[in-house]
Amino acid sequence: MHMQNFLRLCRTFRTVMAPRNPDWQTLASWPLKAEAIERRLEPARDAPPPAYRTAFVTPLRHDVRGMVRAIDRTYDQDVADGRAKGTARFHGRLRTETLMGAVVDWTEPKRLQGLTRFAAVVSDIYRAGGLTGAGDGEGALPPMVTFASPPGSGASTMNRQLVQETCGAAIGVVSLPPNLHDRPLTWGALAHEVAGHDVIHTVEGLLPDLQAALPAMGVPADWRPVWHDWLEEAAADVLAVLNVGPTSAVSLAAYLAAARSDDPVPPGPLGTLGFILYSRLGRPADEHPIDLLRVHLAIGVVETLDAAVRDAWLPLLRQIAERAARKPSFAADPPHHELRDIPVVSNGARSRPNIPLQEATEVARKVGAGLVRTKVAALDGASLADKICWDADDEACARRIRDAALRGDPIRGMGDCGHLLAGATMALLEGGDEGRLTQALNEALSAAYAADPVYEGYMPA
Ligand SMILES: [Zn+2]
Repeated sequence: MHMQNFLRLCRTFRTVMAPRNPDWQTLASWPLKAEAIERRLEPARDAPPPAYRTAFVTPLRHDVRGMVRAIDRTYDQDVADGRAKGTARFHGRLRTETLMGAVVDWTEPKRLQGLTRFAAVVSDIYRAGGLTGAGDGEGALPPMVTFASPPGSGASTMNRQLVQETCGAAIGVVSLPPNLHDRPLTWGALAHEVAGHDVIHTVEGLLPDLQAALPAMGVPADWRPVWHDWLEEAAADVLAVLNVGPTSAVSLAAYLAAARSDDPVPPGPLGTLGFILYSRLGRPADEHPIDLLRVHLAIGVVETLDAAVRDAWLPLLRQIAERAARKPSFAADPPHHELRDIPVVSNGARSRPNIPLQEATEVARKVGAGLVRTKVAALDGASLADKICWDADDEACARRIRDAALRGDPIRGMGDCGHLLAGATMALLEGGDEGRLTQALNEALSAAYAADPVYEGYMPA
């Protein structure tokens, strides 16, 4: 796996993200109108698979007014918390689109195949490891799926708690932008959403238990508050690697690099990642760890895995981290410097002192390893890795898929959806042809949908 191919992956992401939301065609106008939403839902009510009609569509349609009130309340709260009105409105619309899209997308013939493949991936990832108890009863159905996000954005999820607070149905909904419906090689970030956020919100008490374990993970006292605030996102990254392997971290880094490459500030060479710590009122302004530290977090995770996995992935992840740490220069010559420390911007102004890079990255790796190994009460005394771990067998399975895909052979049935995504991404990182890999992966995911125990190949009438 070569750095050059990682950069190719960055370019792929940059291309598919290019339609930067010029005219996001929404189902929901703002302010939200309950009657319009009801009218849109009505003809689609029997389209989703039967189990989801009972568990999701019925409660949603039962009280659309209540849903609108809940989303309006969140908007008011966001604005009261100092969020820009435009941002608060965007989130309100995205939530509405996501909930409606989970129903109406089943009536959209153009994207139906993509939707079923997406459903198969989410179902597999969510059920893996038995963390969620999914499959035994309706309460634990995998999240629904929709292509409701604006083009140019990434994957997102409304976890089941948030959905329940908003519309009374206890089922998550995962969303991707519609232009990615036939490009599953760009779905790497789904693992962060599904294996991460959706699982974290299904296992009661998991996040607080992990937060309480920061001292035991060896995180120094002055770093604990910031990692406490970052911990859900960090745990989602860690669970993604444990569930679908290190390619999830590589895909995430490529996505972040692509998202950054059209920033208005000098972005530096492709592959550079965000490196500034923004804080507001003494807390991190972003719930995600700094981009650069997310790569080190993943390195911390991979360092705990089987030697066969470690040896295959650490060199590339370290190269990605190294390349990411090039600080853009405003002068043409040199075009960039090696980053030595992390600047802090607090309430919009530069604040001193900077944080030494080495210290910050060491702590990130400790958190990564700690999240893998810490035994918590929420898992009956087990660790995340005791429940789910990308091991040598998973790696071997993904490599068989990679090799078949590179030969141009079909890959259907060669592994579960996580292995298929990992193997196809590995083939891309080895220089495989994107179009052919996409075709093979699409075919394999359709077969996975037909065999999925939750969906059983369901198609709307
Ligand atoms: Zn997240």
